[in-house]
Amino acid sequence: TKSNSSHISDIAHHLHPYTNAIRHESVGPIVMERGEGIYVYDDQGNRYIEGLAGLWSVGVGFGEKRLVEAARKQLDALPFYHTFAHKSNGPAIELAAKLAEITPEGLNHVFFTNSGSEGNDTVIKIVWYYNNALGRPKKKKFLARTGAYHGVTIASASLTGLPNNHRDFDLPAIPVHHLTCPHFYRYGQPGETEAQFCDRLIAELEEVIAREGADTIAAFIGEPIMSAGGVLPPPEGYWARVQEICRKNDILVVADEVITGFGRLGTAFGSDFYGIKPDLMTLSKQITSSYQPLAAVMISDEVYRVIAENSGKIGTFGHGYTASGHPVATAVGLENVKIIEERGLVANAAAMGKILHQRLAKFRDHPLVGEVRGAGLLAAVELVADKDSRAKFPEPGKVGGWFFNRAHSHGLIVRNIGDALAFCPPLIITEAQIDEMVKAFEITLDETATWVAAGMPA
Ligand code: PLP
Repeated sequence: TKSNSSHISDIAHHLHPYTNAIRHESVGPIVMERGEGIYVYDDQGNRYIEGLAGLWSVGVGFGEKRLVEAARKQLDALPFYHTFAHKSNGPAIELAAKLAEITPEGLNHVFFTNSGSEGNDTVIKIVWYYNNALGRPKKKKFLARTGAYHGVTIASASLTGLPNNHRDFDLPAIPVHHLTCPHFYRYGQPGETEAQFCDRLIAELEEVIAREGADTIAAFIGEPIMSAGGVLPPPEGYWARVQEICRKNDILVVADEVITGFGRLGTAFGSDFYGIKPDLMTLSKQITSSYQPLAAVMISDEVYRVIAENSGKIGTFGHGYTASGHPVATAVGLENVKIIEERGLVANAAAMGKILHQRLAKFRDHPLVGEVRGAGLLAAVELVADKDSRAKFPEPGKVGGWFFNRAHSHGLIVRNIGDALAFCPPLIITEAQIDEMVKAFEITLDETATWVAAGMPA
């Protein structure tokens, strides 16, 4: 059949991102064919709830005709034109203005890239250029956090704080210091309160700055809520204190909002949720609901001004991608942002987020569940071997992986991050659909518990 030959061909020729190739040869792909709202359908006719919005991306849901039409119209008019050396195009101009309007105050300048990784590489270059322009070339180091995800290019993967992104690639390749992951459940010490944990994180930040010298540290980069690292909200007060210390030491604050942007937490941006006033902000994914590849770096007036005024002196800002400001991608982005506004999807994320967390709360009593966490339409349920001691399973990711596969047969796609199961459904989800998603989750969880109790048979 068609599907069998395409499955065989995929195995023969396609090396997938973040996929064990040998295992792929034995299990083969799930080939997705179409989508509608929060659902996707594979080539065998199976329907799935996309509980992760197709890798944290498809905010307005699948099958949105307005986005198709926006792309088609732009393809007809002008399928491509670059934005190098004073050229521009209507959709890029309009989207840049729209982003300046909706992002936090002071972020009024936009640099477009194709992916979040390239966005964070661009952040690094902007920050370095900025400090060179200010005559302080030693101020180059980034502060990031263990557990952070900032992308996979050589520089952005250096910022990422996950072992498998460094181990096999001789990274980090840029000066970066990874601070303690701000996840109390895992990184809090015995007997420590969450407030004391927060104090310890802040003391560490101050100590690192004192030891290494503020004159060597350029920027602090963080996701408002770490997402790909496991959906890890920081302790209360963390962001305000981090921000204050950075300001005091002339360290730029970068909010990586590739996942938390465009309403995910029930606020316009994750920075709004935590009161962060970033100097730079990285956006992608929900900027187009991933109907087109696009990312954007938001730049403060002040950083922009230094770059603009010095580009004559130290040389033109020598950075940019062929497809920076791609007219089709930005046309789709613009229409997508309009849909989010017109349909009130930020408010829907806030309301549905509350319901999602209410529904997930009951799993706190489940014997396999260690922690339920998140904010807005971003959540995770972490499975543990022992509830009281918080002990992980001996082989991390095995139970989560089993759950992930099993969930498919109940028509549910979630993501297992080790043994934590992440939710990030499309922003359009309804209460009835949350119940449907949580029901499929519950069935899978009970099956997983039975399987674990039976000694995890192969
Ligand atoms: N930053 C964050 C917070 C992300 O979650 C991701 C991807 O998941 C990236 C950056 C990298 O984006 P991309 O995969 O588009 O390169």
